[in-house]
Amino acid sequence: MADTTKVPEVREITRIERIGAHSHIRGLGLDDALEARQVSQGMVGQCKARRAVGLILEMIKDGKIAGRALLLAGRPGTGKTAIAMGLAQALGQDTPFTAMTGSEIFSLDMCKTEALCQAFRKSIGVRIKEETEIIEGEVVEIQIDRPATGTGQKVGKLTLKTTEMETIYDLGTKMIESLTKEKVQAGDIITIDKATGKISKLGRSFTRARDYDAMGAQTKFVQCPEGELQKRKEVVHTVTLHEIDVINSRTQGFLALFSGDTGEIKSEVREQINAKVAEWREEGKAEIVPGVLFVDEVHMLDIECFSYLNRALESDMAPVLIMATNRGITRIRGTNYQSPHGMPIDLLDRLIIVHTQPYDEKETKQILRIRCEEEDVEICDDALTVLTRIGMETSLRYAIQLITTANLVSRKRKATEVNMDDIKRVYSLFLDESRSSQFLKEYQEEFMF
Ligand code: ATP
Repeated sequence: MADTTKVPEVREITRIERIGAHSHIRGLGLDDALEARQVSQGMVGQCKARRAVGLILEMIKDGKIAGRALLLAGRPGTGKTAIAMGLAQALGQDTPFTAMTGSEIFSLDMCKTEALCQAFRKSIGVRIKEETEIIEGEVVEIQIDRPATGTGQKVGKLTLKTTEMETIYDLGTKMIESLTKEKVQAGDIITIDKATGKISKLGRSFTRARDYDAMGAQTKFVQCPEGELQKRKEVVHTVTLHEIDVINSRTQGFLALFSGDTGEIKSEVREQINAKVAEWREEGKAEIVPGVLFVDEVHMLDIECFSYLNRALESDMAPVLIMATNRGITRIRGTNYQSPHGMPIDLLDRLIIVHTQPYDEKETKQILRIRCEEEDVEICDDALTVLTRIGMETSLRYAIQLITTANLVSRKRKATEVNMDDIKRVYSLFLDESRSSQFLKEYQEEFMF
């Protein structure tokens, strides 16, 4: 039976529970026939675009669409980023997803194409299959050394005798205590998986799984009926190409993965890794898992970046590239040419383009209601209607922002529910884009130039 041990991915760190702009999105909200439900998984309306992305999702799952690129184009606030986030949620844990904005690459401590290259390689998974050795043996001795001072963990010893050798495992005290609690005694036969540190006792089933890092690895009690004992078993790890690059880059070292400060990686390192991965693939030891790279505000990239993307998409290890833009015909950055979405025609020609449409009143209200729930804000019906009207006349994003501030105002008057006056109050306190522009027009001579 194959076991799956995964190196934690960067996106897990960013999944810390908090209320972000898209934290209400839990998936694409599609049914089994890939039709978009009007309201589902935090998603409202935009059914055509969600359905199109759902098809892409299916193709990604089938491993059929590597090296393809999709452009989500539509007015600001029409849910392009929300749909990409929905896709990220719907992808399995094993499929890498990287999100970045076009402007981000100009502020990093590395050249633009290196930043793009790293983003590409973060979006390509390598599923590595390994055979791991399992040691089976008799517990000869369990020794617990309690910490002398009560702080710091002293190490306990477990002597495991196998037919071929006698091995002494140094384990954390906590684990030894738990071993004795679960009544592992001298004379019992246990197995230790050398790669993962998993310990199983034969002939009994443990339903409670506990984690310990005693051996620097996860140690768990697992159910292991006698018949299932295997001397060797397959362990599957999924890592990204970028993680392999960093670990093998002599100047970086794996700690850079935690700090995120990986710097530039030499092209020779990448070439060696590509060659190694190709070798593993041929030997059947590894397979490529194309993930998704999402580039928001793609019009912020310049002509050099676009030419890099064009070339990178041709690699047989390319991820699925999803881009979003709210621009119409505009200048391609780094040139004097105008083009649709500010992107070169030859790149546009490679893309599948999906449009997002503005929301109607009902949909806007539904999104605002979901956001209120997400932010734990009670709102009365007429206040929600006014907020919806504001959203239709200004922007959805502006209306979403008023939720938090209106809630603060209502709390100040010790109310439990946001009412119409709270909405009116914050509407007059915080300007939307068009009222702010109007103000500038009226008073522009009083500003500094
Ligand atoms: P921009 O072009 O300005 O980047 P965008 O099209 O990417 O805008 P989003 O940022 O996705 O728009 O949407 C604005 C806000 O509205 C976000 O909080 C988003 O989660 C929410 N939202 C947009 N569309 C939907 C939807 N269909 N269902 C639920 N929430 C949505």
